[in-house]
Amino acid sequence: MLYNKQMKYYSLHHNAPKVTFSEAIIKGIAPDKGLYFPEDIHPLPKSFFENIEQYDEVEIAYQAIAQFVGNEIPENDLRAILKDVLNFEFPVVEVKKGSIATLELFHGPTMAFKDVGARFMAKCLGYFNRANKNKVNVLVATSGDTGGAVAKGFLGVPGIDVTILYPKGKVSDIQERQLTTLGKNITALEVDGVFDDCQRMVKTAFMDSDITEKVQLTSANSINVARWLPQMFYFLFTYKQLKSKNKDLVLSVPSGNFGNICAGIVAFKLGLPVKQLIAATNSNDTIVRYLSNGVYEPKPSIATLSNAMDVGDPSNFIRINTLFNNDLNLLKEKFTAFSFNDEETKKAIETLYTTYNYIADPHGAVGYLGLLKYGIAADEYGVFFETAHPVKFKAIVEQTISQELAIPEQIQSVLHKKKKSISIQNYEELKRFLLS
Ligand SMILES: *Cc1c(COP(=O)(O)O)cnc(C)c1O
Repeated sequence: MLYNKQMKYYSLHHNAPKVTFSEAIIKGIAPDKGLYFPEDIHPLPKSFFENIEQYDEVEIAYQAIAQFVGNEIPENDLRAILKDVLNFEFPVVEVKKGSIATLELFHGPTMAFKDVGARFMAKCLGYFNRANKNKVNVLVATSGDTGGAVAKGFLGVPGIDVTILYPKGKVSDIQERQLTTLGKNITALEVDGVFDDCQRMVKTAFMDSDITEKVQLTSANSINVARWLPQMFYFLFTYKQLKSKNKDLVLSVPSGNFGNICAGIVAFKLGLPVKQLIAATNSNDTIVRYLSNGVYEPKPSIATLSNAMDVGDPSNFIRINTLFNNDLNLLKEKFTAFSFNDEETKKAIETLYTTYNYIADPHGAVGYLGLLKYGIAADEYGVFFETAHPVKFKAIVEQTISQELAIPEQIQSVLHKKKKSISIQNYEELKRFLLS
C-alpha cells in the first residue's frame, strides 16, 4: 500500500518530541500542552474523487485515514476497525429541492455525530493496548454529546477506564442518561459549573505531574487525533452522494470546538472538491469575531439551546490556522463563520418543519441558518450537517414545532436506567478521584 510508512505528529507548541500515531492518541496532548498535528498531508489521487461513487464507505474511509495511521495498524486490521465503526448510515436528505440538503450524522448508537470519532478512537486505543500492559484512563469534558458517544464507544474496552466531566444542569435529560447509566469502566462526574470549567479541570489534570506520574491519562475530546481525524469521512461521504448533481458544494457545519469542520479542511487538503466551508455557531462567536477583526479573543462560554456548541475558546482553531499557514486571507477564501442566537435557532427549527416538513435539532438548525446567511446560488448546492437527533433536545424541539417526537430505540433503552454520577465542586476533588 501507499502508506506503509510511519506518520509523525508534532506539537503545535513546537516544544515537544515528534510522536507516532499510537503515541499521539495515547498521550492525547503533547507534553508542552500543544495539540498534535500530522507532519504532512498527502493529497489523494484525482482518480479517487472522480470514481468515488464506486467505493463503499469503508473503502473511502480507509483511503482517507490510512496515511494518518501509518504503518502502526496493518491494512487488514485498520479496515476491520473501520468496518466496525461505520456500521450505520450517513444519508444526505434533501430539504429544499435542488438547493439544500442535510447530512444526517445521528444514526449511530448514541445518535450524535461524535459516535464515529469516539468509536474509532476506542478501537484504536484498544488495539494498541491489546496486550493490556498499561491501564489507560480516558479523561473527557463534555458539553453534551461527547460524553455519551465516548461512554458508549469505550464501554467494556479492556484496559481502559473512562472518566467523564459534565456541567450540572447544562446537558439534556437524555444526554445525561447516556453518560451516567452505563457503569462498568465508565464514571460520570457531575461538575458544579459550566462546560468551560469542566474543560479547564481536564486541562489542569493533564498538566499535574502528581497525577500523570501515577496514571496514564489521555483525552477523548477532539484534541485527540483519533477523535478528530475520522470526522473527515463525513465530508467525503457527502461528496459521494452529491457528485452527480454537478454543482459546487457548500457545507455548513454547526461548530463548537471546531473539530468537525477542521477535519473537513483536512478532507479539502486531500483534494475534496468543495467550494466553501461554513462554520455555523451559536452566540459563542469567538471565531466569527476573529474572522472579522483578526483578533483572537476567547470569552467565557454562554449557555444556549445548542449546548454542545457552547464553547468560548475553541480548541481546534489552532489546527485550522495551521492548515492555512496562519494566513487569515487564505483561510477566508475557503472558510466563513456566522453566529446565530437562540431566537433565530428556534425560528429555523420552526421554518424547517412548517416549510419543508423536516425536524431539525438546534445544532442542525444553526447549520441551516449558516447556509441561508451565505446564500446558496443556482450553481451551488448547500448541505448542513445534522449533528444530533432532534429527540436529544426533545423539550425545546417539541415546544417549537408543537409536535411530539417519537423516541427511537437507541434512546428508549437508556430512559429507564438509573443515573449514577459523582458530584464534584472543584479541581481538588477531581484529583482525589483520579488518584484513588
Ligand atoms: C460536539 C457537537 C458539535 C460541535 O462539534 P465541534 O467538532 O466541537 O465543532 C455540534 N453539534 C453537536 C450535536 C455536537 O455534539
